[in-house]
Amino acid sequence: MRTRAYVGLGANLGADPAATLAEAVRGLAALGATEVVALSSIWRSAPVKAVGPDFLNAVAALDTGLAPLELLDGLQAIEQVHGRERPYRNAPRTLDLDLLMFGDLVLRTPRLTLPHPRLGERAFVLRPLLEIAPELAHAAVGEAWQSQRIECQGPLRF
Ligand code: ATP
Ligand code: CA
Ligand code: CA
Repeated sequence: MRTRAYVGLGANLGADPAATLAEAVRGLAALGATEVVALSSIWRSAPVKAVGPDFLNAVAALDTGLAPLELLDGLQAIEQVHGRERPYRNAPRTLDLDLLMFGDLVLRTPRLTLPHPRLGERAFVLRPLLEIAPELAHAAVGEAWQSQRIECQGPLRF
C-alpha cells in the first residue's frame, strides 16, 4: 500500500542552505519504496522563537510504501548525513526534516506525533504546503501564521 506523506524541510546553517535542501530532496527520492511527487518553492523567513540566520523552508509530497516510523528513520538518517546536531530546543540547524502528515493517520507516541502538532501555526510550513496541497493547508490553518513575514525565494531545483 502506498501512502501520500508530506515532509517539511528547513535549513539555516552551513555554507549553502538552498543546496542542503536540494540534497535533502535527493535523499528523499533515494529512500526505498518512495517517490517525490510534488515540491514547493523555497521560502525564506526569520527564525521563530530562536536565534541565527534566516531559515529556508520547503515542503515535499511523497508517495511511500514505508511505514510511518520507517519513514521517520529515513528522515533522521538524511538529517544525520547533513550533520544535524540538537544542542538545545529550536537551535539553528543544518537540516530539519519534519513529517507533517502521513495519509490521514492520527498518532500520538513519544517518537512520532501526526499530523505534526505545530503545523497550523507556522507560515514556513503553511505557505509551501499551500502551493502543493491547498486543501490540506486550509484544513490545518491556525491563527498566528498570517502575521509572520515570509518571502518566496524561487523554485527548489534538485
Ligand atoms: P518542532 O517539532 O517544533 O518542529 P524540531 O523539529 O526542532 O521542533 P527535533 O529536535 O527535530 O524538533 O525533533 C524532536 C523529536 O520530535 C524527534 O526526535 C522525533 O522523534 C519527534 N517527533 C514527533 N513527531 C514528529 C514528526 N511528526 N516529525 C518529526 N519528528 C517528530
Ligand atoms: Ca521542525
Ligand atoms: Ca524535526
